[in-house]
Amino acid sequence: MSNFIEMDFDEWCDTYKPIVNHIDINASFDNGDGGIMFETYGDEVEFVKSQSPANIWMYGDGDDGGSYIWSGWGFVNRLGYFITEVPCPPDTTIQIQVSHNWYYCENCSTEMEDPDNIIRDSFQEHDLEKCPECATLEEMTLVGLETKNA
Ligand SMILES: [Zn+2]
Repeated sequence: MSNFIEMDFDEWCDTYKPIVNHIDINASFDNGDGGIMFETYGDEVEFVKSQSPANIWMYGDGDDGGSYIWSGWGFVNRLGYFITEVPCPPDTTIQIQVSHNWYYCENCSTEMEDPDNIIRDSFQEHDLEKCPECATLEEMTLVGLETKNA
């Protein structure tokens, strides 16, 4: 049997203590002491591979359009790796949601969280490059989002 645990990014940092990337001083995910993400190529991935598997975490895109960190080493959809001081417990998968899915409006350049792709799907279905911020009342009715603010 294996456990599946979800936690948020701050909780994960406090619990598992990701180490700072000493290879690239401009690494992503600056925690105040430096960037903690390791790239998927070159010296950085070689350093990641030299670590104990329980201390390696993968960063990537989820199926829902959000981005996540997962315990363990993987190749699919990966954008980067993290190494933590504290190992992931045995037989445990941990998932950390880093960001939700975002919808970008071509019309008004507004970005908004769209975790379930409801906004994107509704407007795309009617070939409208708009969002709830800039759509007219008629367009909101057309795409079926008029009840949202009701
Ligand atoms: Zn818009």
